[in-house]
Amino acid sequence: MVLVYGEPIKRWSCEFAECGARCCKAGREVTIGDIKRIASGTGLAPEEFLESLENKGGLFHLKGKEDRCTFLADDLSCSLHEKGLKPIFCQMYPFKFDGIIYADDLILKVRVTKDCPNIGTGKKLTEDFEISIEALGNRFLRDIEDFKRFKSEGKDFKEILKSL
Ligand code: SF4
Ligand code: SF4
Repeated sequence: MVLVYGEPIKRWSCEFAECGARCCKAGREVTIGDIKRIASGTGLAPEEFLESLENKGGLFHLKGKEDRCTFLADDLSCSLHEKGLKPIFCQMYPFKFDGIIYADDLILKVRVTKDCPNIGTGKKLTEDFEISIEALGNRFLRDIEDFKRFKSEGKDFKEILKSL
């Protein structure tokens, strides 16, 4: 289940070059599914782009360089974007991760980022936008659940990556 906090957004578009890619900070939350896609698509080892292989409940974080995401290019674009490798949460802009409630059924909390200058301007959003945010959030939760299941079977990080 995905809980969305904050006022509904009526208009928005991402103008990363104008805002200086404010969202692209170090430590972006990523799942094992994100890690698998990025590692396969870039040829990088997870250790090269993750802060640590240690994780809390299946949640990992991308490395940074001077508090900026390691995949942020000099022109402020995302170097994963064109390859279709962007982490789930980066596809959920302008929402940001706000926590997971580890109940019997996992609950993902997301919140509109306060930093974005384009909320309320830009493209008119339709119901499809809300549906896609919820679908992405549920995909995120499935990845977390998969990781927990593999862990409970005694698999380590590398074995879990191979199992996906
Ligand atoms: S992966 Fe790309 S979109 Fe996500 S924070 Fe990093 S640079 Fe930004
Ligand atoms: S979502 Fe908003 S703050 Fe984030 S990069 Fe796009 S325009 Fe900038």
